[in-house]
Amino acid sequence: MRLLLLAPPGAGKGTQGERLAAWSGARHIAAGDLLRAQARAGGALGEQIAACQARGDLVPDQIVLDVLTPVVVEAASRGGYILDGFPRTLPQAVAAAGLAAGLGVTLDAAIYLHAPDGVLTRRLLDRASQSGRSDDRADVIRHRLRVYAQTTGPLVPYYTERGILVAVDADQPPDSVTTDITAQLSALT
Ligand code: ADP
Repeated sequence: MRLLLLAPPGAGKGTQGERLAAWSGARHIAAGDLLRAQARAGGALGEQIAACQARGDLVPDQIVLDVLTPVVVEAASRGGYILDGFPRTLPQAVAAAGLAAGLGVTLDAAIYLHAPDGVLTRRLLDRASQSGRSDDRADVIRHRLRVYAQTTGPLVPYYTERGILVAVDADQPPDSVTTDITAQLSALT
């Protein structure tokens, strides 16, 4: 199975991505986690990534593609992938489609998790004390939500036009969100 999770910060991409991986046998690939690991590894590249993440700005497309592509290629040759937080820009979506085409595979669905900004902000602030993330601060959270609306939001019509968008209300308990996603995915096949 090959899926992608399209969702604003705080919508529960990570939680649902892990569950969908367990459900489908595909690999959960979290772009933010891979980029944070690269940031911790240090060097000029790591510092650049860390600075973007701390500001709540997107990491440049080419860096994201360099980090993600080998992981996606490897997963495609096994049980598939659940992309969490990638693609996040139109050029990334075009690159991801090209990558899949080159591998001879297609995406089964783009799962769009939506919730009101107030709910997202509250969740992110609630988890801030445990997350230890430099970007879980009120001002950076506001910025991340703006970046999402401007840059990632346009992927909703992009995948709708391609006939693979599956929209799910993320303003529900995690189990209900998982049930809604798996019910819609099961109905596709
Ligand atoms: P959230 O969705 O809560 O912001 P993520 O871990 O998915 O959490 O992303 C955190 C940060 O990692 C983003 O603000 C951005 O700096 C970087 N990032 C993650 N995915 C991408 C991507 N596909 N393109 C560019 N930057 C990304």
